[in-house]
Amino acid sequence: MVFDLHCDTILRIYTDNTQLKTNEYHISEEKMKKGNSLAQFFAMFVDMKSVDDPYITCNEMIDVFEREVEKSEVINKGTAPSDINAKYITGILTIEEGGVLKGKMENLIHFYERGVRSIVLTWNYENEIGYPNYNYTYKDKGLKPFGIEVVKKMNELGMIVDVSHLSDGGFYDCIKYSNKPIIASHSNARSVYDHPRNLTDEMILLLRDKGGVMGINFYSGFLDGSEVSKVSSIVEHIKYIRDLAGIDVIALGTDFDGIDCELEISNMSKMDLLKEALVEEGFTKEEIDKIFYKNALRVYKEVVLD
Ligand SMILES: [Zn+2]
Repeated sequence: MVFDLHCDTILRIYTDNTQLKTNEYHISEEKMKKGNSLAQFFAMFVDMKSVDDPYITCNEMIDVFEREVEKSEVINKGTAPSDINAKYITGILTIEEGGVLKGKMENLIHFYERGVRSIVLTWNYENEIGYPNYNYTYKDKGLKPFGIEVVKKMNELGMIVDVSHLSDGGFYDCIKYSNKPIIASHSNARSVYDHPRNLTDEMILLLRDKGGVMGINFYSGFLDGSEVSKVSSIVEHIKYIRDLAGIDVIALGTDFDGIDCELEISNMSKMDLLKEALVEEGFTKEEIDKIFYKNALRVYKEVVLD
């Protein structure tokens, strides 16, 4: 089974007016079924510089998500941990870009009430919450006062704080201020490939000590900087992180439909390719299950309220 912590498929469907059931994207109902999906974080990704009102756009995207899951016979919208079970695929609403809150706590509560259970605090721009690690311009900048309040409120509501894209300083502040595990939904190891979107060894160890997970991102630009996303590069990151911090910190955050490189694992139906490669590298079934869904599920149960 697969619990994937990040995809941008809803943006595609929203933009192209297409559907989740069948499509040309990395993720569709059919591909998820074939890939044995258990749960999928569907990120409402909003590019602040290309929309008039990010709050309105985010709500429109949630409308699209709901329309698609309502007509689906295989995907159910889930919020509580008990919603996640092997009888169907659970689609979970997340937001990628905390700027959609427009600096207002009431908007956080609004999105919680719509079913959002995790937020990537920044994308590649500075917002009311903090600063991005698009490059190292803001590396040491921490969370802003509103950002600290958002982290505390998310703890209280039972929403998972996601530090992918956030500045290193912001990461350390999330470790400091969150009283629940946090995640880096789609980030790799900086020691394997030196990119600001990846996490340093120190950050990975802190994330583990916090009980959190990092979702391995399939984008070649974060794996090894090449043109093609290779299974061997994904495995290299996984092995490095396991040797550094243990198996419990590793999850999957494919970034499907948010990445444009050529992929050996060309879509969600092909996840067995990774499983087979891990078996060949000597990973046990229990270790593979942890990477594929158990670690993500553990964090979800720990943070999100039933
Ligand atoms: Zn992203």
